[in-house]
Amino acid sequence: MAFHTLRLVLGDQLNPRHSWYQRVDPQVLYVLMEVRTEATYVRQHLKKLAVFFAAMRRFAAALTAQGHPVRYYRITDPDNGQSFEANLRTVLEAEGIRRFEYQAPDEYRLDRALAEFAGSLAIETACVDTEHFLTQRHDLARLMGSKKQWLLETFYRHERTRLGILLEPDGTPVGGRWNYDADNRNPPPPRSAALPPPPDFGNDYREVLSDIAAAGLPHFGRADGQDYPLDRPQALQALRDFVAHGLPHFGTYQDSMRTDAPWLYHSLLSFALNVKLLHPREVVAAALAAWQAAPERIGLAQLEGFVRQIIGWREYIRGMYWAHMPRYATTNHLGADRPLPGWYWTGDTKMSCLRRAIADSLHNAYAHHIQRLMVTGNFAALIGADPEEVNAWYLGIYADAIEWVQLPNTHGMSQYADGGKLATKPYVASGAYIDRMSDYCAGCHYRVKQKTGAGACPLNSLYWHFLHRNAATLGGNFRLAQPYSTWRRMGPDQQAAYLATAEAYLAELETL
Ligand code: FAD
Ligand code: SF4
Repeated sequence: MAFHTLRLVLGDQLNPRHSWYQRVDPQVLYVLMEVRTEATYVRQHLKKLAVFFAAMRRFAAALTAQGHPVRYYRITDPDNGQSFEANLRTVLEAEGIRRFEYQAPDEYRLDRALAEFAGSLAIETACVDTEHFLTQRHDLARLMGSKKQWLLETFYRHERTRLGILLEPDGTPVGGRWNYDADNRNPPPPRSAALPPPPDFGNDYREVLSDIAAAGLPHFGRADGQDYPLDRPQALQALRDFVAHGLPHFGTYQDSMRTDAPWLYHSLLSFALNVKLLHPREVVAAALAAWQAAPERIGLAQLEGFVRQIIGWREYIRGMYWAHMPRYATTNHLGADRPLPGWYWTGDTKMSCLRRAIADSLHNAYAHHIQRLMVTGNFAALIGADPEEVNAWYLGIYADAIEWVQLPNTHGMSQYADGGKLATKPYVASGAYIDRMSDYCAGCHYRVKQKTGAGACPLNSLYWHFLHRNAATLGGNFRLAQPYSTWRRMGPDQQAAYLATAEAYLAELETL
């Protein structure tokens, strides 16, 4: 059977409900591929490579079982040209195909590369929607127009209203408030609190791991940690599990951290969402249905906190990416240029908070939002780490890391390298914040209550060093007025003690 159309499916386009698959056409060939160019453009976590390949293989097998013709390139296939372009040209020519179609990539880099590739072909081509997101790429930019600050809250309320989520008939928010963020900043739950069981779908990664080893793909991290949903039934299982066990406590503890609980009540749905096994609409619908069925078990603050992440943050971040790429990736507003300490790749540090957050990340290819933002991200910002290196670390280490969502979160929210396009102030904090929101400090080599001198928590002096060295850039930020006023009131001796302690720590970053 000759094929007239080739449809390319990227590794993060595993949406089984896409309209492409609603009809089997024996003349349409689907092509999926594991290629070196994608596996090596940044150094990646072994588990990230494994879950992407494993999920792609499952997806290809499901398409084949439905009767769709599929050509799948494994990373070890001898005829694999190891790039999209090489494999596509081979198949197009070998099959005499007359039409090439692809779904719009979410990464700027791939979007450009595939548009260029399509433009170079002498056959018909088409780029279609992924049918995944709730908003279009440029909706955020259109909504915000020339506003100085593109606030998440403005976008979120607009989206709640547009989608009719948690609204009274008169358009006001259910419960009288749009946002329960203030109720969602609690310290970790007590040890006696029941936590959801760790994710376990019974997946066997041995085959993909052996192929990754055979192909000699560079990687770091461990493969034995967290299990991930690799197909649609498992993704739906993950959604059901979260709604049953995590959602009832999601908001309350979403900002907290506990040494023995890497996941707490978080949903662990980001990988399934980002590779499009789940649609954000069905995720929100499942949470709303659970709340409606048992409002006494799932409070409004829990539900609203979760809905805000999905219809607010996730879509807002994507809108930011498309509004500002490609320049976004290149800015360095605070002129940060220090290399990341080597222990970001091993977790071998005496600082308990960083050791824990990095060890969790290396083990599971996962860390929850506050570990990413207020532990690893906070420390990188405090020392003035080069944003390019920081971005590469985040892009490589997390299974859910795809540039459209990783970059604005890291470069903007966490490192303030975008000069405040995304966050109204840098998310930096001293040890007191970590102590309030976690149980990390109790087991630390450093003393969180000690401000300066040997043995003091490094974050305490680095916090003031950060504000001091960036005063020319950040001193006029009204949201930092209070810390700058505290700094000025401190007096020269205390300021000097903070700066000397910070300088000493900066000089020995590798051994902290
Ligand atoms: P939950 O806490 O259960 O949240 C539910 C869902 O909401 C998530 O699955 C996610 O889809 C969405 N969500 C929540 N916060 C955000 C946000 N800030 N941006 C986008 N979506 C959000 N998320 C990624 O998906 N990929 C990344 O590469 C990524 N890199 C990050 C880097 C930094 C420095 C920071 C601070 C955050 C990053 N995030 C990233 C956002 C967030 O940390 C993860 O989405 C979340 O930790 C995933 O775990 P979860 O599914 O258990 O999320
Ligand atoms: Fe982290 Fe400081 Fe607490 Fe140690 S004392 S865990 S370095 S915040």
